[in-house]
Amino acid sequence: MEQRIAEELALLDAKANLRRLPRLVHHGKWVEAAGCTMLNLSSNDYLGLATDQALRQEYLDGLSVDRLLLSSSSSRLLTGNFTVFEELEEELATRFGKEAALVFNCGYHANTGILPALCTPRTLVLADKLIHASLIDGMQLSAATSMRFRHNDLKHLERLLEKYIDSYEQVFIVTESVFSMDGDRADLRQLVALKRRYLDKVMLYVDEAHAFGVFGPTGLGYAEELGCVADIDLLVGTFGKAAASAGAYVVCSQAIRSWLVNKMRPFIFTTALPPLSVDWTLYILRRLASLQSRRDHLTRLSNSLRKQLEALNIPCPSESQIVPLLIGASADALLKAEALQRHGFYLLPVRPPTVPEGTSRIRISLTAAMNDEEMEHLQKVLENLAASQ
Ligand SMILES: *Cc1c(COP(=O)(O)O)cnc(C)c1O
Repeated sequence: MEQRIAEELALLDAKANLRRLPRLVHHGKWVEAAGCTMLNLSSNDYLGLATDQALRQEYLDGLSVDRLLLSSSSSRLLTGNFTVFEELEEELATRFGKEAALVFNCGYHANTGILPALCTPRTLVLADKLIHASLIDGMQLSAATSMRFRHNDLKHLERLLEKYIDSYEQVFIVTESVFSMDGDRADLRQLVALKRRYLDKVMLYVDEAHAFGVFGPTGLGYAEELGCVADIDLLVGTFGKAAASAGAYVVCSQAIRSWLVNKMRPFIFTTALPPLSVDWTLYILRRLASLQSRRDHLTRLSNSLRKQLEALNIPCPSESQIVPLLIGASADALLKAEALQRHGFYLLPVRPPTVPEGTSRIRISLTAAMNDEEMEHLQKVLENLAASQ
């Protein structure tokens, strides 16, 4: 066993695909690694809320010791169902205009639990090729047959639907709204239109992990921006990214919520989040609509960076705050990331198996905490890097 593992690790290292846990010290929006202080462009703190000391202080000032509950000590179904969970769920359901919401410990739990709870051997799951690992695991753990359609290729999806719909009792279409690694977006309106053609048979499941907080007039996500919330049967989002907290939600019908409470293993068999964490999420959620200036600033930064890449003829699929620099070989991505780090930007290579083989990249994850001057500096560094090729 040890021998085999050592050999495989050496192989990963030889392909520049070995992962190590980075040693970091955080200083607000900067991180210090190996003695260098760099602007953190690798987190998912898109609105800059996680590094906002004033916001934390304000929250702390309003906190009393009876709400400072650091453990739920139990599953929600036993004694862990503190009132703050239901307050958060009611707030989510109201804001999204849906019947119900259910909160989970994290997005990984949500996505590995929902499909297994809802699928039977007579279910077909049609999923985008680039969905997150947690959704893939959910498909694999479920009793459904699953098939993948080419990334954002709705014609391919339509063909699969037409071909297989009569052979199954129920079909789920699964996608992300903003894709985590390419930063592009799914055409939710078209997906809704497609789903509507098979209304009682097809359900739409959308993961908004990278869109919640960032898109939409009140920050609820890309589905809100496109006016599609009502037509998405399972709308999932996470609190660990733009919302600067922890946990995840699904907004759905009351019947589905009850079913998940009864059947979803990662909901049932785990200690609920600390109530304090849920309280902080609720605090952020209530502020989300008022954070438009952060969203606008982030949009300006993203547009500016994308425009520059276009001018430099660097291909980039991004339509969001996630801006990948596609490189190819892992070793090259590693070297370029190190070069960018030397210039003061904490950027990391993203390699297989997180992305397909041969598509290693540097994932620039922009944040509203970044100012215009820092963006100009980054753009200069990228320009010089491109010129030195
Ligand atoms: C981060 C992420 C998740 C997992 O959410 P966690 O709360 O971090 O477990 C799920 N789906 C997508 C698309 C993600 O990017």
